[in-house]
Amino acid sequence: MRKHLPLIGIVLLSLLVACPLVSAGNGEVNLYSARKEKLIKPLLDRFTQQTGIQVNLVTGKADALLQRLQSEGRNSPADLLITTDAGRLHRALQAGVIQPVQSELLSSIIPHAFRDPQGHWYGLSLRARPILYVKGKVEPHELSSYEALADPQWQGRICIRSSNNIYNQSLVASMIAANGEETTQVWAEGLVKNLARPPKGGDRDQIKGAAAGVCDLAVANTYYLAGMLKSKDAGQRAAAEKLAVFWPNQSGRGAHVNVSGAAVTAAAKNRDNAVKLIEFLAGKAAQQWYAEANGEFPVRGDVEADELLRSWGDFKMDTLSLSKLGELNPDALRLMDRAGWK
Ligand code: FE
Repeated sequence: MRKHLPLIGIVLLSLLVACPLVSAGNGEVNLYSARKEKLIKPLLDRFTQQTGIQVNLVTGKADALLQRLQSEGRNSPADLLITTDAGRLHRALQAGVIQPVQSELLSSIIPHAFRDPQGHWYGLSLRARPILYVKGKVEPHELSSYEALADPQWQGRICIRSSNNIYNQSLVASMIAANGEETTQVWAEGLVKNLARPPKGGDRDQIKGAAAGVCDLAVANTYYLAGMLKSKDAGQRAAAEKLAVFWPNQSGRGAHVNVSGAAVTAAAKNRDNAVKLIEFLAGKAAQQWYAEANGEFPVRGDVEADELLRSWGDFKMDTLSLSKLGELNPDALRLMDRAGWK
């Protein structure tokens, strides 16, 4: 036996030299991500360094990736989908392109409201959708809740994007869950009457509109405000600085929040590696980086948000199970349509 040892040594050594760490036999995972490459790639590289699992990344628009998964069906090379909004994750579930996974680690780290009860998807970061007001034109004591945005005092003073956007659909779904459909219908009609202009553009455009004097209030996701405040473009910074965050519904259910999250695809051939990647992204160090890079809040309570987000103050979040947002999405859509929300 003894005389064979040097040979075995040489074989082992040459194997190690031939194989870089990334392909040390731990396989790969194929990721479809609606997050831009620069917002996720550094984390994926760290995952590969730690585990030896190669990550093959495809990025695209959220709705396009979902369509791609549907058309590829069982032949899809994707193992994992990362996308934004619980409403979209629910659409993926209904389309049959994702599968449930059970992970004790994920269930213990991620609060119940921010993951699918059956394990089809897990939230990885939080975005809030507060009311933004123009400093000097609106005093925070004039504001209270999303519901109060339908009050006549706001006539012609509100900017919000169109109803075809999932963020507003999810917000309205959360209101249906809280107040019922009839009450929310009346509310939506009141809100539409208070719009400063027919809805156009994205969340950033609502912030810019408010800064330009088109309206006094805007409804937008927090990371757009953070992105503008941190922008290299002086014009974007100046616009964002004219606005302040108001956290609505603090004496009730809390401000509306949503997630960006991950789901293992139904066609996954590298299922275990996909779960490992979700678990890695839910880890403390990854959470800090991921939330910060995206201007979002960490999904776990034991990781601090970045300084800018903390400067907007602590706030109470609506803890409605986000899977409800998906279930109520069709009702929200119909309701907004009936209210004339373009
Ligand atoms: Fe967005």
